[in-house]
Amino acid sequence: MTENNDDTRKKISEKFERMLPQIWERARRNNEASKTEYMKQLHTKLLDDSRNQFPTSVFNTYLKGLSIVDISSDESIVFGTNSNLKKERLESEYLSLLKTSLKNITHVNYEISFVVNDFDIPDSLEGKSTDELYELAFGKEELARQKELKRNRLIQPDYDESLLNIVECVLCACDDVPNVSLSIPLKSKNVRIVSVTIKGARCSKCGESYYSMQDIDAIHKIEQLLEELYPHNRSDCQ
Ligand SMILES: [Zn+2]
Repeated sequence: MTENNDDTRKKISEKFERMLPQIWERARRNNEASKTEYMKQLHTKLLDDSRNQFPTSVFNTYLKGLSIVDISSDESIVFGTNSNLKKERLESEYLSLLKTSLKNITHVNYEISFVVNDFDIPDSLEGKSTDELYELAFGKEELARQKELKRNRLIQPDYDESLLNIVECVLCACDDVPNVSLSIPLKSKNVRIVSVTIKGARCSKCGESYYSMQDIDAIHKIEQLLEELYPHNRSDCQ
């Protein structure tokens, strides 16, 4: 049971790590949007990993509000925080843990530095609209670009509020990523219930498929249930 979940999580994690270098490759070709996308993906993954590695209070105070300001080469990364106090504490106490997390994700031994953001990110981001948060993180231009992509997505024939409606493929930047049905194989010892079909999306150019984390969680639960209902090995199935 646990093994199935670990495997799936590992698969998702591996998939992410497979994606990162490709996004970075595009970023190197001076494509600012790709660099932004790379930093966004890395930021998400880093927060996800740090949540388990740091004590909750440390995570909430120092890590949660951390932003990636720049990655200037393959070896250096600049993090932004919102006060000098936090900057000093991060440098003196949490640098090596952060470095290890980064290395685990990217396999690069980054030189880490911190800056205090000139804009004031409130400790609590509550009450901010998604647009305001997005603008804080990625700037006005990127927000405008995203809005344009969303407007175009709305008028596509497959648009459906309850589906993913991906506006842009993170791998190849193609903006044609239609909602489609995807067949997901189930990890189970039984041989009769073998897959489920979910509504996801697939890039029409590179074929990358997308699904929601909520659906992945549901699949984990289905696999656990199958484990209970079909406890025997393949050969024992009646
Ligand atoms: Zn693609």
